[in-house]
Amino acid sequence: PIVSGDDYIASLRGRGLRVYLLGERVAEPVDHPILRPSINAVARTYDLALERPELATAVVGATGERVNRFLHVTESAADVVQQNKMQRRLGQLTGTCFQRCVGMDAINALYTTTWLIDQAHGTPYHGRLRAFVRAMQRQNLVVGGAMTDVKGDRGKAPHEQSDPDMFVRVVRREPGGVVIRGAKAHQTGCINSHWIVVMPTMRLGPRDRDHAIVCAVPVDHPGLTFVVGRQSCDTRALEGGAVDVGNARYGGQEALIVLDDVFVPDELVFMDGEFEFAADLVERFTAYHRRSYVCKAGVGDVLIGAAALIADYNGVPQVSHVRDKLVEMAHLNETIYGAGIAASHESTATPAGNWQNDPLLANVCKHNVTRFPYELARLAQDLAGGLLATLPSEHDFADPEVGPLLKKYLRGRDGTSAEARARALRLIENLTMGRNAVGYLTESMHGAGSPQAQRIQIARQMQVEDKKALARALAGITDEVDGKST
Ligand code: SF4
Ligand code: FE
Repeated sequence: PIVSGDDYIASLRGRGLRVYLLGERVAEPVDHPILRPSINAVARTYDLALERPELATAVVGATGERVNRFLHVTESAADVVQQNKMQRRLGQLTGTCFQRCVGMDAINALYTTTWLIDQAHGTPYHGRLRAFVRAMQRQNLVVGGAMTDVKGDRGKAPHEQSDPDMFVRVVRREPGGVVIRGAKAHQTGCINSHWIVVMPTMRLGPRDRDHAIVCAVPVDHPGLTFVVGRQSCDTRALEGGAVDVGNARYGGQEALIVLDDVFVPDELVFMDGEFEFAADLVERFTAYHRRSYVCKAGVGDVLIGAAALIADYNGVPQVSHVRDKLVEMAHLNETIYGAGIAASHESTATPAGNWQNDPLLANVCKHNVTRFPYELARLAQDLAGGLLATLPSEHDFADPEVGPLLKKYLRGRDGTSAEARARALRLIENLTMGRNAVGYLTESMHGAGSPQAQRIQIARQMQVEDKKALARALAGITDEVDGKST
């Protein structure tokens, strides 16, 4: 099995994936300077498991085996809570998206949904899923979750699309398996995964039966093509420096996956045609995943730290409005974490035996995430000052002519270097408008569902009738019908 981050990186070599980036096929993603930081971020999850096994691994109750927490089926509320603690820590350590949570949340959602389908239809999905998860655990692999379809006309159901491939579907059934086609968008860490689990993206109806497909596909299947999404300032990684990239070691990754008539054997199919369970799966998955976004509180810790460093280098750490802005940042950041960890604490056992977090609190967590990182970014940019956007290149700092001038004029208070100041500013730039703003801002907005998706769930779960009853009781309203007073 894979043990260390280095083992993991070695496991990605030589797979011959069809990966496209900047108009070229990538010969070896591991060695590509734009892709490597995203691989390093996943590698960090393995090293954390070695450093802090209580945080980043878990013991399987039935067998006593210790497995990576990203592959663990939750057995208690405490397990669900530990996921969040691990996520915050990894956000702090990497300052980016470390990509393994989608698979973790998909495994746990499917654990329940496959059980429910089997109860209703006598299908063999749950046992197949368990066998798949056990294999992943034993080899300690990275599993990505591929949910978001490209969707075409958003006003139409899958079967109504002029091109039915807008939602991944079964194009034919063969002896021993199914053939699927379609594309999945915004796929976090897919090139850095060993397997992907394909899932439907939304509630489906009887005419969407062929779109009701859940299955596992190896990432090195020849029918898969990956087209890497651009990130703001991504080509700075090609400039050969370590300062202007902001975060030289770590980054996120999203790509479009095209599945071109991929045969999937029966033992890797976990739903095929049971359309009425698509909504159950999506809701379970999003309940887990919307509280997984406490990862952003970990990244927020890094941003707050960078903002505090800049205030220090500028000589104003004790100025009251500076301190107050840092307090506001911490307040917002902990509010994100508070809702997520509360959702996990409120987990309950599912009929399948694993544990599921509270969905209302999870939606509140993610809804906060669609807003607060933007405000944290605004405050960080406020504290950074205009140099954030006008700072010269690190290559100018290294120039024998102009470099000494920059080091003289762009330093802050005595005892601090211009380079330290530049590095802190570049990190803030990276998080708020560079590569990692993809993860910290826009993915915070749309990942695991855009803001309106959370509002729909909050509306469904807010129990407004119960709240009205509470108000009636205290207001002494016994007869609210305006009857004829005669
Ligand atoms: Fe995990 Fe956060 Fe990345 Fe989602 S955005 S995969 S929750 S680190
Ligand atoms: Fe995400």
